[in-house]
Amino acid sequence: MTDVDSFACYLVTKEAAGVRGEVTRRPISDLPAGDVLIRVAYSSLNYKDGLSATGNMGVTRKYPHVPGIDAAGTVETCTTADFQPGDEVLVTGHDLGQNTWGGWGGFIRVPADWVLRLPQGWSPRAAMAYGTAGLTAAQCVEALRHGGVTPDRGEVVVTGASGGVGSLAVGILAKLGYRVAAVTGKPAAADLLKRLGATTILSRTDVVDASNKPLLAARFSGAVDTVGGATLATILRSTDRHGVVAACGLVGGVEVSTTVLPFILRGITLAGIDSVECPRAQRERIWSNLAGPWNVPIVAELTTEVKLDEVAGQVERILKGEVTGRVVVRPE
Ligand code: NDP
Repeated sequence: MTDVDSFACYLVTKEAAGVRGEVTRRPISDLPAGDVLIRVAYSSLNYKDGLSATGNMGVTRKYPHVPGIDAAGTVETCTTADFQPGDEVLVTGHDLGQNTWGGWGGFIRVPADWVLRLPQGWSPRAAMAYGTAGLTAAQCVEALRHGGVTPDRGEVVVTGASGGVGSLAVGILAKLGYRVAAVTGKPAAADLLKRLGATTILSRTDVVDASNKPLLAARFSGAVDTVGGATLATILRSTDRHGVVAACGLVGGVEVSTTVLPFILRGITLAGIDSVECPRAQRERIWSNLAGPWNVPIVAELTTEVKLDEVAGQVERILKGEVTGRVVVRPE
């Protein structure tokens, strides 16, 4: 039992006039049924949260809704033997922040099998500096390594490099010894990307080719693509023999026009990345790596902290592609 009866949250309501977000309090009884009640210390801002907070039905079908696909904090109560009150935990993905009220509120209630223990020595804030973005970046890196893209094979490319997934992917890859070309639309982010370990800075137009050539000069040994659309289509044509392109994002479009030639003439692998239902064993391995050998040295510098009443402004910024690095959200 908990003696808390209400919590602060950023509640999104759909009305005839459109979508409205406001900071308010709701009773704990408004949370869905679930095994584990968690007091949220930190959440974060992801592109998907921006979509949920603005009424995108592809992400969230049920309103009123509390976004926040990431949450870290302490267990308040647990109806299974998996966790004890006071345990420090984190939740990312599954249905959190989609149709289950998420981390932009002081409490969440979720099934026990969504919940992971915080890596040893990490605070909830440290975990949320990575959040879904860190998990996704690490999944992309695992896909490259699994496909045999080793650092000696040449430069890899990361698109949307100044964003959450992109900046963490640059940092992890550089830490693992890769040469990394970082593609960004923000000239002002070049210095940060170099300090993260990028060896080359490219503009967005450098990696979008409008010709109909089915193959372009092979520039990259592998790729982490957060953009999709024409960017992904060009990267597929620009990747060297037996390279792996990890595709996780859609900020530049959901349609990808390609021929089969990169696949059958160069043996390119297009690796789809899904962080939402990432298997538990992979999550545990990745969080342990992020807290250890894959830890991005300047992650604190990438991170901005906001309170609930600052979230609306950040939502606008992320949907315009203006956010650099990561934003952590403190719900109370
Ligand atoms: P961010 O907004 O933090 O990063 C996206 C970055 O992409 C921007 O910062 C910008 O970087 C670049 N960008 C934005 N708009 C455009 C555009 N129109 N054309 C080209 N580049 C653009 O978002 P996240 O890092 O949270 O997410 C990135 C993508 O990955 C999203 O599509 C998100 O939905 C997806 N994602 C998918 C996951 C999965 O499980 N598959 C999990 C997490 C995220 P710059 O200015 O440096 O170019």
